[in-house]
Amino acid sequence: MSIAPDSQKLLETDAVIIGAGPVGLFQAFQLGLQEVSCQIVDALPHAGGQCVELYADKPIYDVPGIPVCSGRELAERLQQQLAPFRTPLHLGQQVESLAQLGDGRWRLQTSSGQVLLARAVIIAAGVGAFVPRRVAIGGLSAFEGSQVHYYQVEAAKLEGQRVVVQGGDEAALETALQLTGSGACASVTLLHRNSKFKATPALEQALQQAVAQGKLTLRTGQPVGLQQSADGQRLTALELAVDDEHTETLALDALLPRLGLSPKLGPIADWGLAMERKLLTVDPATLATDLTGVHAVGDICHYPGKRKLLLCGFHEATMAAFAISAYLRPEQRQLLQYTTTSPRLHELLGVAGNLART
Ligand SMILES: Cc1cc2nc3c(=O)[nH]c(=O)nc-3n(C[C@H](O)[C@H](O)[C@H](O)COP(=O)(O)OP(=O)(O)OC[C@H]3O[C@@H](n4cnc5c(N)ncnc54)[C@H](O)[C@@H]3O)c2cc1C
Repeated sequence: MSIAPDSQKLLETDAVIIGAGPVGLFQAFQLGLQEVSCQIVDALPHAGGQCVELYADKPIYDVPGIPVCSGRELAERLQQQLAPFRTPLHLGQQVESLAQLGDGRWRLQTSSGQVLLARAVIIAAGVGAFVPRRVAIGGLSAFEGSQVHYYQVEAAKLEGQRVVVQGGDEAALETALQLTGSGACASVTLLHRNSKFKATPALEQALQQAVAQGKLTLRTGQPVGLQQSADGQRLTALELAVDDEHTETLALDALLPRLGLSPKLGPIADWGLAMERKLLTVDPATLATDLTGVHAVGDICHYPGKRKLLLCGFHEATMAAFAISAYLRPEQRQLLQYTTTSPRLHELLGVAGNLART
């Protein structure tokens, strides 16, 4: 699988998959077997959806043929399986709009301005796009992108600045330590509401070491307000509640909140698709929604008897791939080919020259 360049030009493909969770990844594999070209978009900076975001190191015991594997391992294996198809993956961007053109094709636009045109769309959006939890202080959003960075930002862009990283989990500690290690910032402060962190012992040890060496400052407190320059153009400090009676001021040039991610269905709810309790209603035989050429698979779809399980999502992806292939090429007879025996599938998978296993 290849990470697509962040090109702003218009891309055309047979199908676009919204979501690089386990089901989106397997969907791309199944489309590959059907010789349907596709591209995947995900709001997260990495593939794997809930498996990586919510339970990366926890064991899964009910994937057929794999007695046990972690969420991260499953995501890695799915990407490995998909590799022969070199599917372009557009990460860190949310699909914001879906509109049909006069010729029946679908036009999708992402939060990075990337436009994709396709005859088929598969929504594999799970429980929604994982978006960073915002800091609940009035007026702070005005500084997003300039001084408040919810997404990864290069250390070079923070050169000479007093940077405050807010949060207490691994993402917060990793960000603070990376910035400390880069040596680019004038100072790095890790701000958390208490002194208990939710991270691996190795990360906590690295944190304490950086503090002991004077490279990193720890502050406890809850941001309750902000201070800005007289002209209102710059954020200059946070006001912190340190206990029930006292507040302190924390001067800064940049704030990097790392408060975790929460799933949001977001724009999908506005695309005019038939829904039932925030889920997309589909035909279980084809996974087609009520819009021609638009299918939904995995946790986001609903039909009688639906179960939000990986196995069910993988089945849905397979059924959707057959249906999309038939929709795109109505003149072509649909064959059921086995990966075990089909020379054509071996060719597609790049295993044509391998000796057959006995
Ligand atoms: C703690 C936990 C343990 C679990 N254990 C098991 C288990 O043991 N066995 C099992 O079978 N199932 C298990 N599940 C359920 C399983 O993880 C889900 O069924 C599965 O992840 C669904 O996959 P998906 O690809 O449909 O959705 P997701 O994994 O949710 O992936 C959807 C992706 O779509 C992206 N996305 C959404 N909207 C947009 C948009 N507009 N633009 C761009 N990207 C978008 C999201 O960022 C996300 O990456 C577990 C779930 C949890 C929370």
